[in-house]
Amino acid sequence: MIEENFDFENRIVSPEYSNTEDDTELSLRTKTLDEYVGQEKVKDNLRIYIKAALNRHESLDHVLLYGPPGLGKTTLSSIIAREMGVNLRVTSGPAIEKQGDLVAILTSLNEGDVLFIDEIHRLSRNVEEILYPAMEDFSIDIILGKGPSARSIRLDVPHFTLVGATTRSGQLTAPLRDRFGVLMRLELYTPEELSQIVIRSAGILQIPIDKDGALEIASRSRGTPRIANRLLKRVRDIAEIEFDGAIDEKVAKSALSRFEIDELGLDEFDRKMLTAIINNYGGGPVGLDTLAAALGEEAITIEDVYEPYLMQIGFLARTPRGRCVTKAAYEHLGLDIPNAQQSIF
Ligand code: ADP
Repeated sequence: MIEENFDFENRIVSPEYSNTEDDTELSLRTKTLDEYVGQEKVKDNLRIYIKAALNRHESLDHVLLYGPPGLGKTTLSSIIAREMGVNLRVTSGPAIEKQGDLVAILTSLNEGDVLFIDEIHRLSRNVEEILYPAMEDFSIDIILGKGPSARSIRLDVPHFTLVGATTRSGQLTAPLRDRFGVLMRLELYTPEELSQIVIRSAGILQIPIDKDGALEIASRSRGTPRIANRLLKRVRDIAEIEFDGAIDEKVAKSALSRFEIDELGLDEFDRKMLTAIINNYGGGPVGLDTLAAALGEEAITIEDVYEPYLMQIGFLARTPRGRCVTKAAYEHLGLDIPNAQQSIF
């Protein structure tokens, strides 16, 4: 059990949006597919689909974007709307509480508009039912009245493109998932791609930075643009107060180690999670729920937010029997590998 209270809400390397930290996020959003860094496969496919839809004067097929938070799903939805030359309407699964809320949104759309629903897996089942005919036939069924005299009327809605975002496509119900024509998975970014994002953001925010400084921030950003942009702003504070305001490798290193983010982007929580598996469960395997209880964090958050990066850098493996820490993680933490584990590696 982790004894100290870890401040999950204000975790500097959290990939989730924080309205106190990420207030400049809107100004940092890329506006075109060409400006959008990385995700080449997704971009190539989208370019084709958008061009084909424009040629046919049709709306784009419904798109499901999935992948960990902070990778650019919202940004991509606004790029789709812009490239299609239509308006974007942004909402989220938890914000649409009743069927009537969704009916109001759908009937107020203009022809061709993009409707972005973030966390679409959190829509309630009866709201989802409104979405099925809307996605398929651009119509909705409304029940008027109650009891035996209730009758259903069918109402047309404008042709629209639904862009749904979720952390995992497996969380969606099958009928909803099947109604998306395009399913796209966003991948974690490489340090080189993130460093391009950092240089671009620094340009917009007028922060002097050199290539090595940008790469240093990028390498510690867990493959996630939102974290890269946030770290850039935090490093700028230190650069302005303790140095001459410009960010180079030395300034970036000094600032990032002060935030206790190591050279691979791991913070206190990652180290605690890995050490908990090592100390309490002999390096694993340990079941997700047991681990979550020991860490005082929700299983789904561990799975969606913390694990993808630890797996990407090869520190954690998911096995049918549970999570295991790898040899690379032991080495990074400077810990000896117990004899029992040696045979596994
Ligand atoms: P998500 O919706 O997946 O949580 P966002 O679209 O809100 O992520 O992106 C978070 C931040 O990262 C935004 O400031 C955005 O501009 C930036 N960002 C995300 N992806 C890219 C990218 N491919 N190129 C440049 N900036 C990006």
